Amino acid sequence: MKVQLVGTGAIYTKYNSACTLINQELIVDMPNGTLKQLLKSNNNPEKIKTILITHMHGDHIADIPFFLKYVYNYIKINNEIAIIGPKGIEDKVIELFTAYRFEDREEIQEFLNVKFIELKEKEHEIELEGYKIKAIQVSHGEEKPAYGYNINNIVGCTGDSGICNGVEKLIENSKVTIADTSLREGDHCHMGIDNIKYLAKKYDKQIIATHLRDTTREELKKEENRNILVVEDGYQFEI
Ligand SMILES: [Zn+2]
Ligand SMILES: [Zn+2]
Repeated sequence: MKVQLVGTGAIYTKYNSACTLINQELIVDMPNGTLKQLLKSNNNPEKIKTILITHMHGDHIADIPFFLKYVYNYIKINNEIAIIGPKGIEDKVIELFTAYRFEDREEIQEFLNVKFIELKEKEHEIELEGYKIKAIQVSHGEEKPAYGYNINNIVGCTGDSGICNGVEKLIENSKVTIADTSLREGDHCHMGIDNIKYLAKKYDKQIIATHLRDTTREELKKEENRNILVVEDGYQFEI
């Protein structure tokens, strides 16, 4: 499995917003700027067939219309694209098309065979395009439901979340977890360095910090912890 961290930053930083690409064909979240970052890093956005959305904050969904329009207008491959996300994700994508004043949503949706899978249970297991995807509810303040994802029991992505059972389950069942580490000290919306250190020790698993604020990034870089990685945008590894 090839994993690329397209973005590792919180929104008000110079870093790309948190986003993870797997085997160039499955992506977790599509924040502001994703399409541009994929093109800049020589990925072919049209290879993406599965979009996993953790929750509906702008820094996780803003580029969905731009991505769909790009594949439709410029590449013209009528892929089957699946968008998996919390209950209401289909209406939210329609709202984005309306807000951006794009009028060809229906044509695009039909041409690309866009299929939405909406989640509402605590846990879901979905098999798609050869991937075993486990969606697990996490805790992101009033933004409900929010999900983390485990892919093939190898890679976990927590999405935005405070420390909770869902996050622990993701870490326990993944070889590597890409985890929200926005803060110095975690709260009910985001984890902090304190939470990540605790989890890395408890499960003795690799954690890659993401959704980092700049001050958190600098502080975390000083920690010498073999289980916690702080990486730059574009970082890739194979597992
Ligand atoms: Zn959020
Ligand atoms: Zn966020």
